[in-house]
Amino acid sequence: MDFPIYPSGLRLSGRRVVVVGGGQVAQRRVPALIAAGAAVSVVSPHVTPSLEGLAGSGEIAWIERGFQAADLDDTWYVIAATRDTAVNEAVSRAAEERRIFCVRADDAVEATAWTPAVGREAGLTVAILGNRDPRRSATVRDEVVASLRDGSLASRHQRARIPGVTLVGGGPGDPELITVAGRKALMDADVVVADRLAPRELLSELPADVELVDVAKLPRGSAASQESINEVIVDRARAGKAVVRFKGGDSFVFGRGYEEVLACQEAGVPVRIVPGLTSPVTVPGLAGIPVTHRGVAHDFVVISGHLPPGHPESLTDWSAVAGLHGTVVLMMAVQNAPAIASALVGGGRDPGTPVAVVCDGAMPTQRTVYATLGSLAGVLEAEGVRPPAIIVVGEVVRVACPEAF
Ligand code: SAH
Repeated sequence: MDFPIYPSGLRLSGRRVVVVGGGQVAQRRVPALIAAGAAVSVVSPHVTPSLEGLAGSGEIAWIERGFQAADLDDTWYVIAATRDTAVNEAVSRAAEERRIFCVRADDAVEATAWTPAVGREAGLTVAILGNRDPRRSATVRDEVVASLRDGSLASRHQRARIPGVTLVGGGPGDPELITVAGRKALMDADVVVADRLAPRELLSELPADVELVDVAKLPRGSAASQESINEVIVDRARAGKAVVRFKGGDSFVFGRGYEEVLACQEAGVPVRIVPGLTSPVTVPGLAGIPVTHRGVAHDFVVISGHLPPGHPESLTDWSAVAGLHGTVVLMMAVQNAPAIASALVGGGRDPGTPVAVVCDGAMPTQRTVYATLGSLAGVLEAEGVRPPAIIVVGEVVRVACPEAF
């Protein structure tokens, strides 16, 4: 505005608000007034079908004639929205006499009130008043709302802190590939307990007062470290903190997430789950490899390769897996891949079955190495493949990259 204005929020619940005019402008303004609980009267000889519907259902009163100054008696707020400047001027005058603020759809300068571009998110109402440039106001409103929604514009000081633990799956590593809910939970956390494979870049965005517990620095050995993780999350939640347990991929896919759920339940700590994009589907996808393809693979299995076939603690029936026709996705399998490939070939899979090894998925160092079940051991060695990697076995690999075979 070229003149000083004073922004304010109005509580219109139960108060008479008059909209003069029954066209598109009125139709756009009325729903927000109804939502605010205002007692809306629309004055106009004609109205749009949608306003007529609102009158029919009793959500607004329709005064089916031209404007009269007395329409503004007992009124708190008025919107002049006719196409006729003379009528709008009459509304302005009648409003001024009665000391009612008046929005003018046709003349922002003559108006005494303006309708901002409004959005609601994260318990906040965002209202942008533009300098007679509604498109720009709407754009800025959209950007603010989107930033609040994805957590990049923090609203942590207005939030209601909910103590408890939130298990957030961070996706495969690219900070773009976390969910909106995951990002929000991170931004609202008092404490973040992060895994090695959780997307690191997101941690650098955390506000300075957030306590960051790096699991990589907790005692080594899988049992000991899991116990100390459970202890940390339960302990902080009991102290009234909002705790985010931040992992790579999805917490329930070889992420030991449910052990943490049980620990919280035993301790009587509320726990919430935010799923993440899991690497056995996402990492091949990023490398251009579909885990299913019509007419090629009607099933895909995801298997942990952290134990070799035949290991007494292994729960996987490798001969049954070899008997399947679809895609086999192996995780945590770099070390045992040669033994797994032998077991699959031994169980009847063709040694010529295509294999793709996608290393460091979603990271700047991502690369894909191709092999067959027969050549896998040698290729892993020759290429110096190190975890993390996803190994995809099956004809889908040939579909995605025929020139490699
Ligand atoms: N909860 C995670 C998996 C944890 S197990 C998820 O849902 O994705 C760790 C294994 O996941 C690694 O050994 C590797 O096989 C796989 N993995 C996870 N992130 C990966 C990435 N960005 N690139 C390649 N493999 C990945």
